[in-house]
Amino acid sequence: MDAPVIQTQAVVVGAGPVGLFQAFQLGLQEVDTHLVDALPHAGGQCAELYPDKPIYDIPGLPVCTGQELTERLLAQIAPFRQPLHLGQQVLSLGRLPDGRFALRTSAGTAFVTQTVFIAAGVGAFVPRKPPLPGLEALEGRQVHYHGPGAAALTGQHVVVMGGEDAALQTLLDLLSAGTCASLTLLHRTDKFKADPALDAAVRTALATGQVRLVPGQPVGLELTQDGRLAALQVATLADTTDHLPLDALLPRLGLSPKLGPLADWGLALERKLLPVATDTFSTAETGVFAVGDINTYPGKRKLILCGFHEATLAAFAAAAIVHPERRVLLQYTTTSPRLHELLGVAGAVPG
Ligand SMILES: Cc1cc2nc3c(=O)[nH]c(=O)nc-3n(C[C@H](O)[C@H](O)[C@H](O)COP(=O)(O)OP(=O)(O)OC[C@H]3O[C@@H](n4cnc5c(N)ncnc54)[C@H](O)[C@@H]3O)c2cc1C
Repeated sequence: MDAPVIQTQAVVVGAGPVGLFQAFQLGLQEVDTHLVDALPHAGGQCAELYPDKPIYDIPGLPVCTGQELTERLLAQIAPFRQPLHLGQQVLSLGRLPDGRFALRTSAGTAFVTQTVFIAAGVGAFVPRKPPLPGLEALEGRQVHYHGPGAAALTGQHVVVMGGEDAALQTLLDLLSAGTCASLTLLHRTDKFKADPALDAAVRTALATGQVRLVPGQPVGLELTQDGRLAALQVATLADTTDHLPLDALLPRLGLSPKLGPLADWGLALERKLLPVATDTFSTAETGVFAVGDINTYPGKRKLILCGFHEATLAAFAAAAIVHPERRVLLQYTTTSPRLHELLGVAGAVPG
């Protein structure tokens, strides 16, 4: 049975830094908000592409890493308790006859909302998949692009695929957890493109026999009669086809940003970006806003602080749609008792 449709006032598509700050600004405007991201965690490019690298141009924060900024933004929105729907891509967006919008995600989550905020950055970060016919049917059961964690793989023969940081890190995490029956690394060569420390740790595990390396490319799946994945057929460097039995396959081939479904939502795109008005950050479709790296306007700069400004004005514009009966006033977080209440700091003694 399908899950019930979530009725809300705003859906933010993308939980990168700008999507997170968008949620904060919507919280201040008392707009009920849900966030969705294709990744299993928040933070967008900051968390995915440069979690440990320093950022120096966030106002008031002389230096912080991509991960730290993500954690601070999550802490900032915590008072609003806005549901975060992770690991699911928004696939469709359409307007309903009553003027609201219907959205559906790859996990089957359905929303009906008054406003939509597209904070999709460079597109949804989706895992690169090995081109093996039939693999999709095994996703979430024996094929996992994220997780599923060492406990879920207890007693299993696990094959990790890839030769970059993510693959090596997954392998080492599983090795240190010690729950798997066996661990195999499947990579097209015996050379890795990874951090030297990870490379060295994996080489040690290979030398001591804790992990096996199979250099080659998977070319086919061997299924049992009841549709379970029993083995991979692997084309080896020696031009033979090997049979690699397994219980679980963890492809870690990196992520690629996919604009994907957004291009089919009927919104006017300009070189894969959404043109917006700079007073509201609304697209040409009333009620649909675009903020952060996904939008374009004269003078646009793809910087986090520009996205924060855009999100602030977009939230004011959304409040006028969601609460037409109210005058949208400018209130300061420093002095407004109502904002203090919303932020859960009413009565707090300033330190
Ligand atoms: C190496 C590097 C260093 C950088 N350093 C700086 C810096 O020092 N200062 C600075 O200001 N900027 C910096 N930037 C740029 C900055 O990271 C971006 O401007 C910022 O991340 C944009 O934020 P965003 O929220 O708009 O998009 P993103 O961070 O791209 O987040 C978008 C999110 O939307 C999700 N998404 C997209 N489509 C969908 C969908 N259909 N369904 C569900 N989820 C979806 C994606 O999975 C992603 O998580 C740097 C960028 C890089 C790559």
